[in-house]
Amino acid sequence: MRFDIVTLFPDLFRGPLDYGVVARALRSGIAEAHLHDLRDFTHDRHRTVDDRPFGGGEGMVLKPQPIAECIESLGLPDKAARAANAEPKATVILLSAQGKRFTQATARRLAALDRIVLICGRYEGVDERVSQLLCDDELSIGDYVLSGGELGAAVILDAVVRLLPGVLGHADSARYESFGEGDGPDDTPNGKGVPRSTHASAGLLDYPHYTRPADFRGLAVPEPLANGDHLAIRRWRRQAALAKTLANRPDLLADASLGDDDRAYLATLGYNPES
Ligand code: SAH
Repeated sequence: MRFDIVTLFPDLFRGPLDYGVVARALRSGIAEAHLHDLRDFTHDRHRTVDDRPFGGGEGMVLKPQPIAECIESLGLPDKAARAANAEPKATVILLSAQGKRFTQATARRLAALDRIVLICGRYEGVDERVSQLLCDDELSIGDYVLSGGELGAAVILDAVVRLLPGVLGHADSARYESFGEGDGPDDTPNGKGVPRSTHASAGLLDYPHYTRPADFRGLAVPEPLANGDHLAIRRWRRQAALAKTLANRPDLLADASLGDDDRAYLATLGYNPES
């Protein structure tokens, strides 16, 4: 998978690209990241990338011409061909506070592509015609306003790269974490209603994790985890994931795949799906 990032500040990506899982994926060639300095696509002495907004108002707007020339230099299928799924499978994304929300589902969709172009805005934003003529999507990484698209681009790259085959040590790690697919409930008599594995998720947040020591500043690791009874561990993790989701993200429960036991447990925590 190849990323092309269009930015006024290529150096800002030093750091996000240089450590851990992402750095390893880039070193191994599973992913490539190419940084493009927008000023290289200007033609005036001052290397001007911005201009005043039509209609007046605060701040400056990124001009369409340098961005267009940069995108056109990348040798991608054009927008119509991309919509028709031409090879290589590519997408051009504008980072924008006005974009669709970037989620784990978006990351999974993007991980199936060959090329991803990320355009980072600055100032008041980017001339709207960039989105209209050149982009397939506008994505926002959350409901807040950043000073530039670079951190958003780094977030998207990180979330996508770790889903690429061969990047994470354990192929299942990415399937079963928060927002992952997860397992359905067991239907064997022995484990009835308990998830088939210790993996939680399926629309819930991940369960809490513990490592040694067993007692840390007076807080003990929950009993079932210390005891090694697998059914008890699975049940505890499922309930802990439910409790965590109810506490921090109750909005996710409406779409999670819940069994009767899950609903009964949530009811003991005071969850009322009607309210
Ligand atoms: N005037 C704009 C904000 C511009 S912020 C507005 O009110 O919507 C400057 C740039 O930062 C944007 O062009 C975009 O590329 C980036 N940016 C800001 N918030 C973002 C977010 N939540 N997600 C992704 N990119 C964001």
